[in-house]
Amino acid sequence: NDYCNPQGQIRDTCCDYQSIETIQSDVFQKIQKLVHSKFFRYYRADLWKECPFWNEEALCTNRDCSVATIDENVLPVDWRKAALSAIQLSPKGSLFQPFKQCTYKDQDFCLVDDQIDSDSVVYIDLTENPERFTGYAGPSSGRVWKAIYEENCFDIVHQMTEGCETCNNIMNLGSTEVNPLKEAAAKQSLLKKPDSPFAHVPLDKAELHQFLEDLAEEADGGDDSNDEVCLEKRVYYRLISGLHSSISIHICHEWFDREAGIWGPNLDCFVNRIGSHPERLQNVYFTYALLLRAVNKIGPYLDKYEYRTGSTQEDEKTRLMVQDFIKSTDSCPSTFDENSMFKGPEAQALKTEFKDHFRNVSKIMDCVGCEKCRLWGKLQTVGLGTALKVLFSYEDKSLDPVKNPNLFERGEIVALFNTFNRFSESVDAIKTFRAMYADKMSPK
Ligand code: FAD
Repeated sequence: NDYCNPQGQIRDTCCDYQSIETIQSDVFQKIQKLVHSKFFRYYRADLWKECPFWNEEALCTNRDCSVATIDENVLPVDWRKAALSAIQLSPKGSLFQPFKQCTYKDQDFCLVDDQIDSDSVVYIDLTENPERFTGYAGPSSGRVWKAIYEENCFDIVHQMTEGCETCNNIMNLGSTEVNPLKEAAAKQSLLKKPDSPFAHVPLDKAELHQFLEDLAEEADGGDDSNDEVCLEKRVYYRLISGLHSSISIHICHEWFDREAGIWGPNLDCFVNRIGSHPERLQNVYFTYALLLRAVNKIGPYLDKYEYRTGSTQEDEKTRLMVQDFIKSTDSCPSTFDENSMFKGPEAQALKTEFKDHFRNVSKIMDCVGCEKCRLWGKLQTVGLGTALKVLFSYEDKSLDPVKNPNLFERGEIVALFNTFNRFSESVDAIKTFRAMYADKMSPK
């Protein structure tokens, strides 16, 4: 059936659905095992940062929204706050911290929660806090998704081409009248002011749906003559939409049926949210292909990486597991061709802008009004940001921890692999839904 069985080439990648499914059958068990290992299961995050864009008061109080944290004493000494804070001190050991104001390292595409001394930084065992249905919905989640998609407006792309829609046009597609609030929002967005008035536009579900559908159509290109110029923007959109789809798939796959009081897959939820929108399904495979290329590229760096789990045996076990997993991703090394992006005279400026937008998404995640959704939203933004950093900030030969130590923080590596695992679980869940759908359609 067409609903969940897409065929052919995945747009903006170098591979088709079939090759992704073949790789998936080889890597799924391996990545599952990896994310349950000591190095990959513990994550540090600041879950209580204030939303910098609007007043977020709608906090989900369901039990399923809360995150179970762990005491840092169960972690190896090298991963605890004290050890990490010590690394942040200057080499002379004084409290002089020249880069304290600097939230991002230059190469980073996202904000890693690096204020280690903050009280709201917690440690989490990810295996104990699965991303699944929590009941978080309504205007609060709608506003966050909208704000994230709004970051799709690229100044440089707009300056470079007449064919790509301008942000103002995107905001007003389908309407001949200019909505002054949306126009102001578009301008604010272009000027990168954090207090976008868009955040305060009352959310009408139909309007939100229309806005995002229009954005999807626009990101898909319409006019092929501008494809080259718009590639970066399309990639941005596909990553966000792929993340959105993947989250929806987990919600539908681990759905809580309140009436029956049981957890299980909900086929209608999947068909409505994903199956009946081929481009949303395609964006899951697109993001999977990009992540796969990133984990493959970081493989040699991890060969010599110091895992510091507190036991040399565990370190070695982790290294072998990672190598075994990476080997399986070798079969299709060019799932995504990063060299096709950021070319031409404006490449550097465009890359900077791409980074800025992605960093803003990290900040928007602090506005998610459900603790568990916030955790996974933040982790996956760091994961995708790390993938972009691997692909676009370093050439293969610089990815060597002996020559270039500290290119990646532990949290970035953990986030990258856990994000890949989330997408791998999504592709596995699609298989389940495909079978459920075929079963439902077969004559009894
Ligand atoms: P939404 O998913 O809110 O989507 C809003 C609109 O976006 C849709 O009407 C549609 O027009 C468009 N759209 C939907 N999917 C796509 C796509 N893939 N690509 C492009 N456009 C799309 N809820 C949980 O139960 N568990 C979680 O772990 C969880 N994590 C979340 C993490 C984040 C960062 C956010 C912002 C929300 C999270 N939520 C979670 C809430 C969840 O994503 C939905 O918002 C909620 O279930 C309501 O769904 P909805 O059907 O109204 O549409």
